[in-house]
Amino acid sequence: MALSDPTFERRVASTPASDPQTRAEALTIAARALRAAEYVCVLTGAGTSAESGIPTFRDALTGHWAQFSPQELATPEAFAAEPDRVWSWYAARRAAIVAAQPNAAHTALTLLASRVSHFSLVTQNVDDLHHRAGSRDVIALHGSLMRGRCSAGCAGTVELTEVAARRVPTCATCGARLRPDVVWFGEPLPAAEFEQARNAAVACDVFVSVGTSNVVEPAASLPWLAASHGATVIVVNATMQGQRKGPSILPIEGPAAVMLPRLVEEAFAGRRARQRGPAAE
Ligand SMILES: [Zn+2]
Repeated sequence: MALSDPTFERRVASTPASDPQTRAEALTIAARALRAAEYVCVLTGAGTSAESGIPTFRDALTGHWAQFSPQELATPEAFAAEPDRVWSWYAARRAAIVAAQPNAAHTALTLLASRVSHFSLVTQNVDDLHHRAGSRDVIALHGSLMRGRCSAGCAGTVELTEVAARRVPTCATCGARLRPDVVWFGEPLPAAEFEQARNAAVACDVFVSVGTSNVVEPAASLPWLAASHGATVIVVNATMQGQRKGPSILPIEGPAAVMLPRLVEEAFAGRRARQRGPAAE
């Protein structure tokens, strides 16, 4: 679905996304696109959980942890060298997630899912707030902080409920260390999940990017993959700095927990939930 409002396209190209009239028009056009859509794919990033008080990866490097760089904590090499230190950092982040609650952005996505025929939710977040808000079948590109898996490659994962663990637990099967079930620097995204995300981006007619700067590849390619296959792309983010512009891109600048509920409200207020079909794979 291409946008069909040349006047708006010209304004978006020439005015900042923070301009109130531009944003109001973008919301109106985005709401119309969502209402007409058969298949909506949403990609979420750290900005989606920000209003829940979950710090972004780099913001989490505060206090005692500020003396470390991401490469000293989030790489296979760091874990091999100092497993207890790496594990305890992840345990601290896990404790922050357990203490947090889903926010209005997470809730708006469960509402959106109930209003469209086909819906896919792809996330770069490693918290479980989408799940706790009620979203199901979330495609998690970066794994989950709430799970561990065997560092020696045993099949299966372990749900982590022991948030305060200071020492690395061991695999019940082989005795090797458990590692956080997240994607570290230098590691590829899980192939099956990324393939699902790509397929959703290609198949959807509206793609919504929420709370992500869209600069970290390969996930950053998903909105533009969707656009190149004819989808309208709605970008909801605190800042549009660094985001691509284009005729099929609708910038909605502002916090996800404010803008996403406003968008879903504008699209579906007073309308009844539709019968959902199976999500395309
Ligand atoms: Zn094992």
